Amino acid sequence: MELDRFLSSGTGGNENQYENRLRPQGFSEYIGQKKVVDNILVMVESANIRKQAMDHCLLSGPPGLGKTSLAMLIAQSLGSELHLISGPAIEKKGDLAAILTNLQPRDVLFIDEIHRMHISVEEILYSAMEDYRLDIVLGQGPSARTMQIEVAPFTLIGATTKSGLLSNPLRTRFMGNLHFDYYETSDLAKIVKNNAVKLDIKIDPEAELHIARCSRGTPRIANRVLRRVRDFALVEGVERISETQVLKSLDLMEIDGSGLDRMDRKILQVMNDYYAGGPVGIEALCATLGEERSTIEDVFEPYLLKEGFITRTPRGRELSEKGKIHLSANS
Ligand code: ADP
Repeated sequence: MELDRFLSSGTGGNENQYENRLRPQGFSEYIGQKKVVDNILVMVESANIRKQAMDHCLLSGPPGLGKTSLAMLIAQSLGSELHLISGPAIEKKGDLAAILTNLQPRDVLFIDEIHRMHISVEEILYSAMEDYRLDIVLGQGPSARTMQIEVAPFTLIGATTKSGLLSNPLRTRFMGNLHFDYYETSDLAKIVKNNAVKLDIKIDPEAELHIARCSRGTPRIANRVLRRVRDFALVEGVERISETQVLKSLDLMEIDGSGLDRMDRKILQVMNDYYAGGPVGIEALCATLGEERSTIEDVFEPYLLKEGFITRTPRGRELSEKGKIHLSANS
């Protein structure tokens, strides 16, 4: 079955290559997210003892926190195949039906951005998840008939940046509902250390820690910074990366000491200059920034909120005192 056209398209080819190279190869390499991992390990072990499919599971949290990597480890531990697809890429019921009917017993189907799947496509998941069966309606009106097709017992892992947008029928069909938090600096530093070894980079512990501190609690960003620092060191002919090299590279990448990048600062700046610090509605803010609402809401806002640079009120987003101080110190 040709699944390529439904594959998640979040990162380009070269990015993908690196991402796969740096993915944890076993649970021992999967750092942090202890609560999520503890839950998953019980679910995997139970499925292995029962010799049945693992229960369906929803993984929610901002991008780059390790949802796909965890799904890969789950499939590996179950000894089954992982099929990765992107929710919004499936436009027709028939496409999802074809994917589901091609699954082998105990296979894992990972649907990224599951909250963006079309509702008519989503509906065929209900019976597939609950009874391993597809109910396909043939024809229309009084002559319509329902055809039932068996599906192999499989595990659905849904990944979402916005679990609140999931429809109720879909949400209630997941046994596990696990939320990913931003990583502690110490955990990110361990990830940077492990990945430096994988990329054959020599780096000082202070440099690892500095990368960890400026990566917005996100392993994908830590990986990106590490690779940029490596490029920088190569060009400069530096053998071992020190904190100074990290500082220079972060400066080139326009990432400041709090881990905010140009876009983060632009959001704070626009709130300050155009809306007197707010409150400002998300639609107005996105229009002024010329950005998609989903990009602002899923990628940038969660970290700005978590770190208290902005606040959310019933009347809209507001720039906090911390945000104002950050702006004046960094502009
Ligand atoms: P998501 O699916 O949530 O967007 P990914 O699983 O694609 O995130 O993670 C992006 C990259 O971050 C991975 O390639 C991996 O190198 C790294 N990563 C994520 N989580 C972890 C973790 N817990 N331990 C080690 N590396 C991680």
